Amino acid sequence: MIKILIVEDERAINDLIEMNLSGAGYGCTCAYDGIQAADILEKERFDLILLDIMLPGADGYELLEYIKPMEIPVIFLTAKGSTEDKVKGLKLGADDYLVKPFEIVELLARVETILRRAGKTQTEIIVDDVTIDTKSRSVRRGSKAIQLTMKEYELLLMFARNRNIALFRETLYERVWESDYMGDSRTVDLHVQRLRKKMHWENKIKAIYKVGYRLED
Ligand code: CA
Repeated sequence: MIKILIVEDERAINDLIEMNLSGAGYGCTCAYDGIQAADILEKERFDLILLDIMLPGADGYELLEYIKPMEIPVIFLTAKGSTEDKVKGLKLGADDYLVKPFEIVELLARVETILRRAGKTQTEIIVDDVTIDTKSRSVRRGSKAIQLTMKEYELLLMFARNRNIALFRETLYERVWESDYMGDSRTVDLHVQRLRKKMHWENKIKAIYKVGYRLED
């Protein structure tokens, strides 16, 4: 299991991140100040650290210096609009940053990207009796392969990585088709219908009125 350390003193934000990352299948440990984070890092190995900058004890910059020799990827969590923080963080060696408040979809996408870049991505995602192998890009139920088109597969991956989160049609379109959403939802709707049918997930992928869809797990 991929292990992520969340260093954030605002409990509500820390809880929210933990809940969503756990839901996506990551093992999470939470720290609420810089000293506690350093203590945890001394005892345990992590694959990724989400690091807030303004922290009691030791701040994010100090902690980053401490983490650097461990060669663990770091995503900085910065307050809205503090461009200086971002630049300083990246200069100091952070791999990426997220500006608070951020969308959970964005957080999961960044985490995934950084882990992939570090060669630490989860190769198997399991939803019920379905296994998604992200290395071979194949899907199976038990030992039986499920044939999906490329877009259906990408869509499935979005749902599986964002379980129990309502995803906007716009978000799905922009992530899966990688182009700007022009307000036409038929493409997304058609693909979701096909995916539901192939996966036998008619009741699992729920349509959310005026929003989009949610995979319930
Ligand atoms: Ca803070």
